[in-house]
Amino acid sequence: MLFKLNNVIQPFAWGSKTMLSQWAGIPNRDNQPQAELWMGVHPSGESRVAQTNERLSEVIARDIPGALGDYTARHFGQLPFLFKVLAVDQPLSIQVHPDLASARAGYQQESAMGLAQDAPERHFHDPNHKPELVYALTPFSALNGFRTWEEIQLLLADFNLPFVSSLALAEHNEGCNRLENLFKAVMALDSEQKQQVFLALDAFLAKSGGSHLVEQAREFIKPLRQLHPDDIGVLAPLFLNIVFLEPGEAMFLYPRTLHAYVSGLALEVMANSDNVLRAGLTPKYVDVSQVVAHTDFHSSPAESLKLVAQEQDGVRLFPVPVEDFRFAVIAPSQDWRTRFLRGPEILLCLEGEVTIRHQNTHISLSAGESLFVGNKTLTYDYQGNGTLARAYN
Ligand SMILES: [Zn+2]
Repeated sequence: MLFKLNNVIQPFAWGSKTMLSQWAGIPNRDNQPQAELWMGVHPSGESRVAQTNERLSEVIARDIPGALGDYTARHFGQLPFLFKVLAVDQPLSIQVHPDLASARAGYQQESAMGLAQDAPERHFHDPNHKPELVYALTPFSALNGFRTWEEIQLLLADFNLPFVSSLALAEHNEGCNRLENLFKAVMALDSEQKQQVFLALDAFLAKSGGSHLVEQAREFIKPLRQLHPDDIGVLAPLFLNIVFLEPGEAMFLYPRTLHAYVSGLALEVMANSDNVLRAGLTPKYVDVSQVVAHTDFHSSPAESLKLVAQEQDGVRLFPVPVEDFRFAVIAPSQDWRTRFLRGPEILLCLEGEVTIRHQNTHISLSAGESLFVGNKTLTYDYQGNGTLARAYN
């Protein structure tokens, strides 16, 4: 059960026109943004089996539980993860993904209300949560989770913005709801107040100097300000952690955590879901009260966000605290090695060329090419001179 995949490329406006072709020679004949390459069975962009052009979900459905394995078939009933390559040229919206219970309730409610799947005000496209892992292929920058209150206070004191800075520095703002209060107050500024904030912000962005924290936030905000001149979301780097991943580094994003991807090429593995609630930096539908309802307002220290890989025998495993997926990066050698399956897998070649073998079937993958491995294969061998990413359950 080895099936080479043909995958959908999503032309979202923020996508890069060149990164996928530079990375893997993927052509871009129409010169459109190539934002995301999707590997999986999500109906918004499903992979097909290269040889027969069948949908991957059909191939899996024909052989349940064989294709998924007993565990995955029983717990999920389908391929439980979606594997993507992200090519981020312009920042994505500030967003949050719901947890499992609220995704189920929200999906049921919006379906009962008769909201069409593609209605702009629809939040829940499926009844699933969407924890995410990001693995950088080039330097990759993002916002992830709230800064500590002390950091926010330091930044806001230096930026000294009308309405905003006083909120964080006010004596009475000491309670456990202070992050939520601050976020809601900033999002509730009226257009007059926003114009005053932007005036002060632009003056501050034009200056230089200050602490490392201030310099970093200033450089991060500048391009956001250019792209979204009327969006108060440009202040997000004052509240959220700025994270830089080097190639080969990864981070995890919990449900109910505000985040935004800003630039770079990366892999992303997530639960099979497309549920997004947006808070800003986007022309798409924004619903602040929904975002507040689905966000945990606590600080995540920046140093705790990156995942620590477990390394063994040329395999780097990045442990994640969810059952929906696992993720590892493999460096094959000239000798054949064997891997044992736990459930279904998708293998993606990141560079070089790698051959996968099961009994008499040999399939070679070069950069950007991917393979579905059904669970009943039980094992496969691999060999080559490249790098392989492995998303599995
Ligand atoms: Zn996200």
